[in-house]
Amino acid sequence: MRCPYCGSLDTQVKDSRPTDDHASIRRRRVCPDCGGRFTTFERVQLRELTVVKRSGRRTAFDRDKLQTSIEVALRKRPVAPERIERMVNGIVRQLESSGEGEIQSSAIGELVMEGLKSLDDVAYVRFASVYRNFREARDFEELLGQLGGDDIEPATKPAPARDDA
Ligand SMILES: [Zn+2]
Repeated sequence: MRCPYCGSLDTQVKDSRPTDDHASIRRRRVCPDCGGRFTTFERVQLRELTVVKRSGRRTAFDRDKLQTSIEVALRKRPVAPERIERMVNGIVRQLESSGEGEIQSSAIGELVMEGLKSLDDVAYVRFASVYRNFREARDFEELLGQLGGDDIEPATKPAPARDDA
């Protein structure tokens, strides 16, 4: 597993144990080159999923992208990484067990809102406000990419200018 800090390929597992729901194995790793510490999760993937965007375009479901957008909404909130992991697992399991190989991007957004609602009120409002702002004009998949791509907190970021011109 490549070190996310320095890029070294020689990282070591220091601790390995199942998460509370036993749906993942959590590994604490340390990089001998830079001393960086990070955590990885190993989990079951039941099936490949395809996301259908509003435009009709199809793209492979990206769990990391989903998780990043949820983590952005939860930034600086007192929620343990294991709970986030469990929520993401729950969403992915729901998608995998829906019987559909193709998922509408809006359905993912609704599941995220449901999950955040029970996990953290502030994060829910953050996500919901950004999601609803974008829902009419932009594709949710695009929103996920934008949330993951910058460090601006959605709660304090002014609504982006609409490209009406
Ligand atoms: Zn390193």
